[in-house]
Amino acid sequence: MRGLDRSATIYLETFGCQMNVLDSQLVESQLRGLGYRFIDDWRAADVVLYNTCSVRDHAEHKVYSRIGEVGQHKRRNEDTVLGVVGCMAEREGAAMLARYPQIDLLCGPGELDKLPLLIDNMLRTDLARRTRRRRENVALQGNTHRRSGTLAAAEDRLEMVDLARSFSPDEHHGSAYVRITRGCNKFCSYCVVPQTRGAEVHRPPDTIVDECRQLVEAGVVEITLLGQTVNHYHFDDTAAVSVDGVRQPQVGGSAIRSPNLPGTSFAELLARIHDEVPDLQRLRFVTSFPRDFGDDILETIRTRPRICRYLHLPVQSASNRILRLMNRGYTVEQYEDLLVRIRRTLPDAEIASDLICGFPSETEEDHAATRDLLRRSGFKNCFIFKYSPRPGTSAHEKMEDDVPEAVKRRRNNELLEIQNGVSRAIHERYVGRTVPVFVESVSRRAEKSRNTADPSVTVGWESAQSTTQMCGRTGGDLIVMFDGEPGQIGSIVDVQIEQAAPLALFGQLAGAPVVP
Ligand code: SF4
Repeated sequence: MRGLDRSATIYLETFGCQMNVLDSQLVESQLRGLGYRFIDDWRAADVVLYNTCSVRDHAEHKVYSRIGEVGQHKRRNEDTVLGVVGCMAEREGAAMLARYPQIDLLCGPGELDKLPLLIDNMLRTDLARRTRRRRENVALQGNTHRRSGTLAAAEDRLEMVDLARSFSPDEHHGSAYVRITRGCNKFCSYCVVPQTRGAEVHRPPDTIVDECRQLVEAGVVEITLLGQTVNHYHFDDTAAVSVDGVRQPQVGGSAIRSPNLPGTSFAELLARIHDEVPDLQRLRFVTSFPRDFGDDILETIRTRPRICRYLHLPVQSASNRILRLMNRGYTVEQYEDLLVRIRRTLPDAEIASDLICGFPSETEEDHAATRDLLRRSGFKNCFIFKYSPRPGTSAHEKMEDDVPEAVKRRRNNELLEIQNGVSRAIHERYVGRTVPVFVESVSRRAEKSRNTADPSVTVGWESAQSTTQMCGRTGGDLIVMFDGEPGQIGSIVDVQIEQAAPLALFGQLAGAPVVP
């Protein structure tokens, strides 16, 4: 038996969306506060944690492969604790433990507040007892729905994970995520999120504004508000419940939002953060649901210059029949009306979208409609995926995955080709302009050439002009590569754009000497 050991080392790897990235940051912050150390080498770690994603088959397969590797490792290092947290733990639960006995703990996204306790228990429990305890630990998945359903009247322990976040300047590079909404009530027929993350729950606005203020005081320049359907945010202050002086999150409805509802709307929350945290330089939000995007939000963005002109609005298909099967709750005409409203109010905004090709029963005619929409919509980029059925969703249960893989692949490639042309045209409009860029990192190309000491190495679309090529984003979320220095990470610099490619812009720091 190892005994209580909070100097133990943890390796944490994250798969999936920004929500998972934030969950991992909050978990790490909690565990660091308890004395655990995080390391980059999983083979040397006492605890290996995978924060998982179930949205696509591909993401799950990566995790299975990691679990297999750790299983081999545990044959020689049997004290290593393997934990699977996040959406796969929630979706698969006991079945996963039965198939992979090397897993010691499972923890769904609705139970992350209990993760430190679980890890402590595991480190204190000898291997034989640990094996017997697995059945007990399965109880930590499957609770998302129950917890969310009773939140209005009970303490929301998950909220404590957000409230306990660390604001240390060492733990960010000038940007941070802030969760405003958890879960989703939309039940799109292909999506596991309502099952894995539970019902929609909105955090109190005062708590969110306060968190943003503390992050900015700790040096954060850019905040991204997160929600599965972020614009559905609504908090009814008149119905707020407090437990021990802490205002509790509220369960959301599934109805279309009216700006006249009492309480704080998403537009009002944006305005409050912008106005009450004046030193915040950039405010972003993802992901928006097209059905609930009111003019009040557009007007708030228009009148507040530090809210980024960037909207991510997944359309998924341009066939109304397919949208109905997907249970998206809007028509393509309503979606395009939203694009018109955005461009009228925010002519400088960039819009990104998502598309699924090869959804059950998708015909060539449906696909042609999607191709046409892609040509005329002017998305700065579009995440295009081949449909893959996810167990537990209504599409998986009720619809036949009847579009052959080769057809899905062809449709996917056709859409990608169209989007490449659209993205290039949008990027070309920026050539010759000087744009403010939030510097995120050394580019992958520069990072790789540092590691390989071979400056000729290139990765994908990145150029091989400099070993200090930096990567950042405009307010409209366009990726910009420029020659700079790592000390600029976390700041906003002006970059003169010189070249455009489908995936990125290339430029020089404004005012930098011109090299012939
Ligand atoms: S809106 Fe639809 S696709 Fe997005 S998280 Fe909710 S159910 Fe999933």
